Amino acid sequence: MLMSDRPPMRSGGIISKYGDYLPEIDPAAAVTLGEGQTPLVEARAVSEAVAAGVCVYLKCEGLNPTGSFKDRGMAFAVSRAREAGYRVAMCASTGNTAASAAAYCARAGMRCVVVIPEAAIAAGKLAQAVAHGAVVVAVRGNFDQALAIVRDMVERHRIALLNSLNPDRIEGQKTAAFEVCDQLGGRAPDHLAIPVGNAGNITAYWKGFREYKEQGKVSSMPIMLGFQAAGAAPIVVGHPIERPETVATAIRIGNPASWAKAVAARDESGGLVESVTDEEILDACRLLAAREGVLVEPASAASVAGVLKLARRGYFRERSGASRRQDAVIVCVLTGHGLKDPDAMMRLGSGPLVAEADTASVEATLVAAGTPLDGR
Ligand SMILES: *Cc1c(COP(=O)(O)O)cnc(C)c1O
Repeated sequence: MLMSDRPPMRSGGIISKYGDYLPEIDPAAAVTLGEGQTPLVEARAVSEAVAAGVCVYLKCEGLNPTGSFKDRGMAFAVSRAREAGYRVAMCASTGNTAASAAAYCARAGMRCVVVIPEAAIAAGKLAQAVAHGAVVVAVRGNFDQALAIVRDMVERHRIALLNSLNPDRIEGQKTAAFEVCDQLGGRAPDHLAIPVGNAGNITAYWKGFREYKEQGKVSSMPIMLGFQAAGAAPIVVGHPIERPETVATAIRIGNPASWAKAVAARDESGGLVESVTDEEILDACRLLAAREGVLVEPASAASVAGVLKLARRGYFRERSGASRRQDAVIVCVLTGHGLKDPDAMMRLGSGPLVAEADTASVEATLVAAGTPLDGR
């Protein structure tokens, strides 16, 4: 088939949608898997649990091509690296950056090297990096050590850095803030709740909201609410954590690279960065899965856990005064898909009941387990 015989088609993705708001790039170098345009869904059960007069929406970033928001930044960073003639790219990762880098580099025809903390990344993410043909190095240390090594390596060799220290990652990721405003019909949310690990994403969202305001696309900006896991909450406690620990492996980071920018987003927006316990994270994860039908990995649920925690102490009540004409809009960013971490998902519910392969056995097993069979 001749090129000109191809049906006219736009492959989508953040560069074709929001290119006007991004640094210029040669379209021929652009790499896309159709990232972005993820659903913003209303969360009835979460809204009810928060307070009367608030409406909570979930930005389902796990529905990006490799299952996390990292694809937005990776699409732009890999495109720019390809444009600049790099053949090898490298990143440190708690898992999702590795999965995304591996996929986009595969598509761009670049070699990809990922450095991960040994035994601290979810099974699905490692499987992705391996399947996409990345060279995976597991170091006997944590993410912060892996990142230090990668920063060293890109100084010594002509290797593109794909961590969020690379400003192209932030550029790509800020498109999520644009999308949230567009999906809300041309307004910013009142609050944006987001998990914070290395703090690139909170930095990117805040940049996006600021730019949309400057461009006159929205008339206000949200209050930024960042949430770290209690065992990995350096910004909350005010100093780096040497041995970060949490079930939310994607945010198991003790010394965030974009620390100062996260603090700026917090302060400029009048927001906060707080911590949530692993238990609160898993409870929020279960609520999302069992009541909203939305499956997310533990780190993602930190945004919802944080909003529920603030609600318990009346934070949103105080802010929705009698003069308000409409419900306060809270958007919780759900950063990654639950299938990334099947082990964590299995612990949210009870495992399969086992029965003989006949109706009577299945029926008896269900009755024994207290399952209502004639319920309406
Ligand atoms: C990367 C990641 C985060 C943290 O984002 P930062 O930009 O590092 O703060 C949160 N959740 C998931 C699922 C991630 O993959």
